[in-house]
Amino acid sequence: MSKTSDYLIALDDGHGIGTAGKRTPYIPSLGRQIRENEFNAAVTFYLKEELERCGFKTLLTAPTDYDTPLIMRTNLANSMGADILISNHFNAMDGEFDGPGRDPEGMSIHIYPGAKNGRRLAEHVAKFLRQGTKQQFRGIVEQNLHMTREFNRAAVLIENGFMDNEREALLMLNESYQRECAREQAQGVCDYFRVAYVPGDVKAPVKTVEAPKTEVKGEYVSNEVFGKRVESIYKGSEGLDFYSKPTFSNRYRVGTLKYGYGFPTIVKKLKVEGAYMYEVKNSRGHKYYVTAADEFVKVEGASSKPKSNPEAKPKTNGQRAIGEIKIVNVNNAAIVQDRPDRKTSKNLGTVGKGKAIQVTGSVRGENSSSGYWEVVYNGKRGFVTGEYGKYTAY
Ligand SMILES: [Zn+2]
Repeated sequence: MSKTSDYLIALDDGHGIGTAGKRTPYIPSLGRQIRENEFNAAVTFYLKEELERCGFKTLLTAPTDYDTPLIMRTNLANSMGADILISNHFNAMDGEFDGPGRDPEGMSIHIYPGAKNGRRLAEHVAKFLRQGTKQQFRGIVEQNLHMTREFNRAAVLIENGFMDNEREALLMLNESYQRECAREQAQGVCDYFRVAYVPGDVKAPVKTVEAPKTEVKGEYVSNEVFGKRVESIYKGSEGLDFYSKPTFSNRYRVGTLKYGYGFPTIVKKLKVEGAYMYEVKNSRGHKYYVTAADEFVKVEGASSKPKSNPEAKPKTNGQRAIGEIKIVNVNNAAIVQDRPDRKTSKNLGTVGKGKAIQVTGSVRGENSSSGYWEVVYNGKRGFVTGEYGKYTAY
């Protein structure tokens, strides 16, 4: 019997938090729309916990807040040699609530047409979802989708319900539903690899072959860069590693940052294994650790000159565009804000309807259900309301 640690599981949370279109209709009882990625990211986070508890290694295909292009997701999973890939989504039909009993409902598992291992994985996962959740099971569906087609090995894309079914839409924010989906998917993965599932309330058995487990801990250095954005300035094609724990050990590596990609919030700086790391958070509040070495990363607003120099100007030209948006859904022009909050921002200017502007990513921000595009405006960082931009990746 093989060890779970022999396997690397690629986990893909469909879309990005600011992806246009991917959201429920307005829900009166909630007072807002729910973005598909809110569910996808949550279930992926719990699935990662489940699988790691069972001893698997995991890889997040889209760990940053950007709407990571699909090709980058599958390239990453393939290049890391992941054994299987699981992509979580929430389905949509006509984008409207038609009233109880009139909307489509249930979950489905999508595989590439004719994929044998994909089907086998889907069957194992389906078994646990069907006996677990109360959701109607719509079946294993053969469909030509990027994630299942371009990943080299067994891949499943799970639609966990319908965003335009009001009852199911509310399940998207239901933590016990998120956890249940993650748990049953993990049980299916264990079944597929014929390894024992380790339930959450039972301690994982101590692995005798490994060195005694020491607590992975960094030493606090400072929080002077608290709240700032940090991004990779490393140009190597393999990207910059980041970790789920304060360590440089491969065991806790969860993904890589390409040049120009990063995290919106630094929590603190730590001394780790003789070097420095930043503890960072993504916009969903998940914590990661990345090197703080200034040949590899850059902190927003940081100067290369000593901090005490009041003449030092913050850098504004280090942004890297990943694509562009065309301005849509406005009468004349879209406002470019200095921060991703409609209520407290200053206007930097406007971009006319139909015009294009470069984007460096998307963020959740405040007071916009569609999030915000982070744009390059006159050489400065600016923000445009998500629904006003139609995105094209470079
Ligand atoms: Zn989706």
